[in-house]
Amino acid sequence: MTFDLAARLAARRAEHLFRQRPLLESPQGPQVRVDGQPLLAFCSNDYLGLASHPEVVRALLDGAERWGVGGGASHLVIGHSQPHHVLEEALAEFTGRPRALLFSTGYMANLAAVTALVGQGDTVLEDRLNHASLLDAGLLSAARFSRYRHNDAASLASRLDKASGNTLVVTDGVFSMDGDLADLPALAATAKARGAWLMVDDAHGFGALGASGGGIVEHFGLGLEEVPVLVGTLGKAFGTAGAFVAGSAELIETLVQFARPYIYTTSQPPAVACASLKSLELLRTEGWRREHLAALIARFRAGAAELGLTLMDSPTPIQPLLIGDSARAVELSRLLRERGILVGAIRPPTVPAGTARLRVTLSAAHSVAQVERLLDALGECQALLPPVEQ
Ligand SMILES: *Cc1c(COP(=O)(O)O)cnc(C)c1O
Repeated sequence: MTFDLAARLAARRAEHLFRQRPLLESPQGPQVRVDGQPLLAFCSNDYLGLASHPEVVRALLDGAERWGVGGGASHLVIGHSQPHHVLEEALAEFTGRPRALLFSTGYMANLAAVTALVGQGDTVLEDRLNHASLLDAGLLSAARFSRYRHNDAASLASRLDKASGNTLVVTDGVFSMDGDLADLPALAATAKARGAWLMVDDAHGFGALGASGGGIVEHFGLGLEEVPVLVGTLGKAFGTAGAFVAGSAELIETLVQFARPYIYTTSQPPAVACASLKSLELLRTEGWRREHLAALIARFRAGAAELGLTLMDSPTPIQPLLIGDSARAVELSRLLRERGILVGAIRPPTVPAGTARLRVTLSAAHSVAQVERLLDALGECQALLPPVEQ
């Protein structure tokens, strides 16, 4: 026997699922250069346009001057620098939680939190549309793992009735491929009534939702009692890199002591923490970015509806257009690109079979005119495709 990688790759192509990495030759922003072509992009998660913000860049440069580049070691050895510590304190204050713990990526924060809290004999219940990192975390934990129907507190309740051991309910705050909000008040009440803990990964809500960018928990006004485990990432609206878990002092100390993805990895470069601290300040105090983003979202939804496109139930900067067939989604993305517009086609297995989509994301860095250009191009490209068979 041997590894028949060629056959696997060929099958992937035949199913229209082969992925390619666009090569970015410019900084993040609405106008980018990709594979030699200037393009207007609607696919990054830089929702507030902070990834290339001059003050954030300056904070990174100053941080590198002062602290050097590498983290040097893991946090428990000699890698926990003052900028990491200051950022953690600022994130705790921002989220209204007693403590926050910094991670190098959101994927690792999720693996850490779930595996430190549940194991053999316990139960982890997840929304079936949760981000891959949360699903992987559930499987890695060795707890009994089950997925409830999307955003369905009744489906969660019936699984909670059969749960044993410590039970962790895990959900995205804003669903990454659909843009809809988790029904946190209902999920939190359901979990709490049965003694389970709720963990919310709000990678796409922080910065974009809530009066001061505090994400879905600020939007719904939920505290530590309702959401004991809160995860945020810094690579999206913050425009930097890394992630955090916020919660009680006991929760955070448990992660420091027991979470392997926290313990066995080098800390992120301290200068990145300096940049995140600057982003946090801009994100909290300059609410005009969220206001502009809300206007862009409204403009896009009105325009797409006029074109007869299928929008999803999303009040967030994630505004997917449901296409269905993978080949059709890829073709639409290709036609847009011919017109100088970059929107990613998202296909199974990232999303359920038959729900391929164009994942349009908007950023406060976009202008209204740029959103109108996207709408014009969508109208043109749609007219070039055969009508959808019913
Ligand atoms: C992007 C994302 C992550 C992973 O965060 P990284 O910092 O990119 O590793 C986790 N959860 C959700 C919901 C995400 O969208």
